[in-house]
Amino acid sequence: MRAQLGRDMRGVVSIARRCGCGRPAVVRTAPRLEDGTPFPTSLYLTLPWLTLELSRVEGTGRMAELTERIAQEPELAAAYRRAHERYLARRAEIGEAEEVAHVSAGGMPTRVKCLHALAGQALAEGPGVNPIADEVLAGIEGAAPELVCRCEETEEER
Ligand SMILES: [Zn+2]
Repeated sequence: MRAQLGRDMRGVVSIARRCGCGRPAVVRTAPRLEDGTPFPTSLYLTLPWLTLELSRVEGTGRMAELTERIAQEPELAAAYRRAHERYLARRAEIGEAEEVAHVSAGGMPTRVKCLHALAGQALAEGPGVNPIADEVLAGIEGAAPELVCRCEETEEER
C-alpha cells in the first residue's frame, strides 16, 4: 500500500478487494484514525491504475450528469440511498465517529462527488450494491465484472 499511495495508509482494518495480481485494490479503514480524526471513507480505493481511470472519468463532467439523473429517476435515487445506508451500516461494524455518523462517502445519498469512494464500495461489496459505481465501472476496461490487473500499464505511463 505504501508503494501504491506513496505514503502509509492509516487505520487499515482489512483488505476488502484485491487486484487481479493480488495487490490491494480497496482497503477497509476505521472511521476514526489513531489521532482521533474522523475518516468517513471506510472503503478506500488504493489501486493506482483504477484510481487514474476514475480520475479521467471525473474530468469529463460525468459526475454532474449522474447527479442530475439521481434527481430525476426515483428508482435510481432509491437504490443509491440504499447504497448510502449500507455504507453506514457496514462502517458501524468497525467503529463509530459521531461527527460523521450520517456522512457516508462520495456524495451519497443525493449527489455524486467522488467516483473513487463509490467504486470502493462497489468493488468491496460486489455488483448490485451501488448502481452509480456499477455503471461507471462497467465503462472502464478491466474493472468489471472481474477486476483484471492493469498495474504494469500504469507503471509504464509514469
Ligand atoms: Zn494488479
